[in-house]
Amino acid sequence: MKLETLAIHAGRAPDRATGAVREPIHLATTFERGADGSFPRGYSYTRAGNPNRGALEQAVAALEGGGEAVAFASGSAATLAAFTLAAQGGRVVCCSDCYHGTAKQLRDILPRWGGSAEFVDTTDLDAVRRALEPGATLLWVETPSNPLLRVSDLAALAELAHSSGALLGCDNTFASPVLQQPLALGADLVMHSSTKYLGGHSDVLGGMLVLPPGSPLIEPLRDFQGTSGGVPAPFDCWLLLRSLATLPLRVRQQSANALEVARFLAADARVERVHYPGLEQHPGHALAARQMRDGFGAVVSIQVPGGAAEAMAVAARVRIFTRATSLGGVESLIEHRASVEGPHTQTPQNLLRLSIGLEAAADLIADLDAALG
Ligand code: PLP
Repeated sequence: MKLETLAIHAGRAPDRATGAVREPIHLATTFERGADGSFPRGYSYTRAGNPNRGALEQAVAALEGGGEAVAFASGSAATLAAFTLAAQGGRVVCCSDCYHGTAKQLRDILPRWGGSAEFVDTTDLDAVRRALEPGATLLWVETPSNPLLRVSDLAALAELAHSSGALLGCDNTFASPVLQQPLALGADLVMHSSTKYLGGHSDVLGGMLVLPPGSPLIEPLRDFQGTSGGVPAPFDCWLLLRSLATLPLRVRQQSANALEVARFLAADARVERVHYPGLEQHPGHALAARQMRDGFGAVVSIQVPGGAAEAMAVAARVRIFTRATSLGGVESLIEHRASVEGPHTQTPQNLLRLSIGLEAAADLIADLDAALG
């Protein structure tokens, strides 16, 4: 089945008890045993399994072309679950431009579990090869990356990781399965902050890990999900499943809007630099055109002349964009990234990250035109 059909039908069926076209929200935390003590319908306790969570997991697995998905209460909880696979003396090699919370987990939490991490520019395959050499267990990559929109070659990274005995995990949050399917390119694990495009409306927090069919990683991850207990609430799963129906439409239109906005900004002398892989002059454009489809995503980062104060001043003047963190929602957001990322930030002080939404591109361009002063 095609992605658009899966987005609407995977994980879904009319409710067997009532015929309701949308599934009920199962708020119960516990489920009845049969007379023989078994759980005949497959559910015992909501931390271990819940019908709404199961439906969401099936749908996201199908969209990523995976075998199984494991849902968590946030993207960060999902990332940390993946890093448990590399704990106990394991070494993670991670892209140097990545979500700052992911870097913090690797810097602050992994060592407490006996693991270690190294950060490397994953667009440089020789550097990755060298970093993997002394027994890395997991290579972790974002492509396009947050916030510099760097593009890394997933098929090449999978080959490098596997030839040195490591797993490849890909944070696919920026692309979503509409634009990029890392499992088909050799990744062992796909992660999403479903707070972003999967949710799409800035009203639900969530995270997902997706594995290829038959992956041996399912057992430890399922065990970690139920035992650590960082699971999403049934209502959040229901909301996410509802959002998936419009995911292809939203992501394609947001990407088309982003390309228009990026082209306007790239041609404007008041902007020092535009980071967007959809622009021909972006160093990762050809690779992105090869490994992505239907668009280049809807996050655009810009650098304006000056420093933090000048960037903040531009953000202060927008009228349609909202000054807020996060991305992937239907409304456009603008953010001074370095001030959110804290003391370890390597993000340029004059950088603003734009999450392009579903408003008319012409209105967004007019808003930025006025804000640039
Ligand atoms: N990965 C990326 C690329 C992100 O942008 C984010 C959040 O901004 C996360 C992971 C963390 O997700 P969450 O905020 O759902 O914990």
